[in-house]
Amino acid sequence: MTKWVYSFGDGKAEGSASDRNLLGGKGANLAEMSNLGLPVPPGFTITTELCTAYYDNNRQYPSELSGEVDAALEHVGSLVGAKFGDTANPLLVSVRSGARASMPGMMDTVLNLGLNDETIGALAKLSGDERFALDSYRRFIQMYSDVVLGVDHYHFEEILETFKEDNELTLDTELTADNWKEIISHYKAAVERELGQPFPQDVRDQLWGAISAVFGSWRNDRADTYRRLHNIPESWGTAVNVQAMVFGNMGDTSATGVAFTRDPSTGAKEFYGEFLINAQGEDVVAGIRTPQNLTKQSRIEAGSNDPSMEEAMPEVFGQLVDIYKKLEGHYRDMQDIEFTVQQGKLWMLQTRNGKRTAKAALKIACDMVDEGLITSNEAVLRVEPGSLDQLLHPTLDPDAPRNVIATGLPASPGAASGAVVFTAEHAVECMQEGKRVILVRIETSPEDIHGMHAAEGILTTRGGMTSHAAVVARGMGRPCVSGAGTVRVDYAGKTFTVGGETVKEGDVITIDGSKGQVILGEVPTLQPELSGDFAKLMVWADEARRMKVRTNAETPADAETARKFGAEGIGLCRTEHMFFEAERIVAVREMILADEHDKASRKVALDKILPMQRKDFADLFEIMSGLPVTIRLLDPPLHEFLPQTDAEMDEVAAASGIDAAKLKQRAHELHEFNPMLGHRGCRLGISYPEIYEMQARAIFEASIAAAEKTGEPVTPEIMIPLVAMKQELDVLKARIVAVAGEVEKETGKKLNYLVGTMIELPRAALQAAQIAETAEFFSFGTNDLTQTTYGISRDDAAMFLKNYQDQGLIEQDPFVSLDPDGVGELVKIGVERGRATRSDIKLGICGEHGGDPESVRFCESVGLDYVSCSPYRVPIARLAAAQSALQV
Ligand code: ADP
Ligand code: MG
Ligand code: MG
Repeated sequence: MTKWVYSFGDGKAEGSASDRNLLGGKGANLAEMSNLGLPVPPGFTITTELCTAYYDNNRQYPSELSGEVDAALEHVGSLVGAKFGDTANPLLVSVRSGARASMPGMMDTVLNLGLNDETIGALAKLSGDERFALDSYRRFIQMYSDVVLGVDHYHFEEILETFKEDNELTLDTELTADNWKEIISHYKAAVERELGQPFPQDVRDQLWGAISAVFGSWRNDRADTYRRLHNIPESWGTAVNVQAMVFGNMGDTSATGVAFTRDPSTGAKEFYGEFLINAQGEDVVAGIRTPQNLTKQSRIEAGSNDPSMEEAMPEVFGQLVDIYKKLEGHYRDMQDIEFTVQQGKLWMLQTRNGKRTAKAALKIACDMVDEGLITSNEAVLRVEPGSLDQLLHPTLDPDAPRNVIATGLPASPGAASGAVVFTAEHAVECMQEGKRVILVRIETSPEDIHGMHAAEGILTTRGGMTSHAAVVARGMGRPCVSGAGTVRVDYAGKTFTVGGETVKEGDVITIDGSKGQVILGEVPTLQPELSGDFAKLMVWADEARRMKVRTNAETPADAETARKFGAEGIGLCRTEHMFFEAERIVAVREMILADEHDKASRKVALDKILPMQRKDFADLFEIMSGLPVTIRLLDPPLHEFLPQTDAEMDEVAAASGIDAAKLKQRAHELHEFNPMLGHRGCRLGISYPEIYEMQARAIFEASIAAAEKTGEPVTPEIMIPLVAMKQELDVLKARIVAVAGEVEKETGKKLNYLVGTMIELPRAALQAAQIAETAEFFSFGTNDLTQTTYGISRDDAAMFLKNYQDQGLIEQDPFVSLDPDGVGELVKIGVERGRATRSDIKLGICGEHGGDPESVRFCESVGLDYVSCSPYRVPIARLAAAQSALQV
């Protein structure tokens, strides 16, 4: 039979910290603290398995549960010398939720459960303090009604406020027993009015009501949203903890508090926290009274005159210090603890590994290695790779003046300047022309995704921290200020106004997504640096990892940034991005306009592009000197380089002297119903050999030039996109080899190079054994491989993938985190079959997934040689690769 209930308290427990999956974080740590002999009020945990069983069984409990709960409750009562529901000596409990990962979306804790009109008398008598008993009862009615019965807390707050006003009282602590009595009767009346039935007096009803509310809250909207944002599977379930109450509201020798064993924002090794005398539960964080400091030093630094705990309760404070040190030593990590003092006796109510900023995480990890508490490998495992993002965005120069014209929410960190645009389409056009823009919208929707991606930053006037704009911007790493309510956008007039200032389309603004500021004009930015603790941890990470980390980059600036962040080469240089620059696009269009069979005209245009491409590649080879560089030959369909609308075509035709009718006709010829699956990738190379020949020549000539300049040999890796069959690669490789032969002959130099392919079509993965006969390396292009495996277009997916997530069909967006079951299976097949043919074949990944820690772990497990990601994600990938190597 399954055991659903685990007890703790009195120096022992049925579970321990290792039972986190079963008992939830809170329950497992309460058990662990009990086992350590720390003062923990006794209680029991109903397991996460019960939560799953409850949902699997139509929200019904297994029949044996109530017996197990009764027995556990009896045991708790015997330890504290009380009995649940007893009118002479009642046991009171708290009911606390506790999932595996801490989840703010879950039900709030209910305290003082077991109080009713009968037991309240006993509590008053036993404590000798009627006021305390009534204070506990009014808290219980409010909390229980709010979180279990759904009577909003404002009903109760209103009653209390009115009472205080009528009686000219300000602080809760000024209210007498009689005052509370009166308020309680108002509270009960309010519940009866709202629900049509009285506040539950049966303590068993109270208990099961609270337990069911915790399990019910596992699937409320708040919890669902949180789970989705943090990739917590619904199958995990939550546990429920029922624990004997201790009282921090029993007068001036009682208190409640929260603490961190080190400073969670800086990581400094200082005991950090707050407490409140004569208070209960969340009073400390609720902001009703100002909490006091724990240590004397922090009180002095804060300039406060209210005594610190160190000064007000020196003895208990001493015990707390001993305990926090013991806990930190035991868990070997910074702890976030909750405690209560009841009439001079200290009780521990919670401990967990404390949340911290990325900066603090780095400092604590490095300090703990210095202190001999953890090894450098453990330090590497302590820092969440994704959190490094906080430290990797450009920030505004703090010394530069800022003309702040509006403030909104700091929705996505980092800062950016650019010209104001009001539509996603316009943002994309500007990006293609190499212009930097800030997309300004009232709010964004999935149709704006491509524009958000094209923009340097996003500003919205509506929406909160979890609005579409905020979530998407964070995901893309674009700075975002959301909900800047004072900004008035006029789409028709292409302006926005704020505080008498009018900003037109094209005007430059700056947004600071870390502060929520909107600034007029450009503000200089500072590039993030890898130094101090960050650099130290990266060295340890590099020692631990097996996979190499490269970058996806085509501009010198990106390549330089990536190298500074430790990139070990370029895994993907997309040559088409080089075609869009203003002076080149004309030549590119000339090439495209050449008729299908007019090879000569195409050649003339390509000859104009050749020196520019050569220069691009030479720059990259120099920046990446000594490191491998993979260059992908032209991939997108040609019509992407042509103007789109008739008006634009006329404009382009006039400017470049091309015949407008011809331009339109060619655009018409090139039109495709499904460009993603159309005439692109190596198919272009098959149709127009001259294009790839020109690119190969540019690469070879650049490699010779760069090698001469730097003195380092260059071994370019030429990558053919969208190969589905070996035959395609055979034809194209032969042409590249022929070009190499020509260049060798012309220059008298010997060339070293590799020719390989992207594996981005399911057929290519399946045919990897054959393709590897020709290909010297594979790079898994998991963006397209995900599109073609799922048959989902990435650009349109946002419209329906969210429904899939909402309905629990998928847990993660497969474009963000590699789908290990389907796409991953194809990658695995590609790896195995490729290696079987060519044992030393180089294997890497160059999709967006290369910078996603979860996907990096997958890459390690299938034995790839390297991952490649955008420059700012390189440190994240280095750390993720190290963690994967340590965990495999
Ligand atoms: P959260 O998950 O939000 O931290 P908790 O379950 O830790 O919620 O409860 C919040 C607070 O309620 C605790 O910090 C503690 O002050 C108080 N509390 C919970 N259980 C008890 C108890 N058995 N006795 C006294 N106070 C309690
Ligand atoms: Mg807590
Ligand atoms: Mg592709």
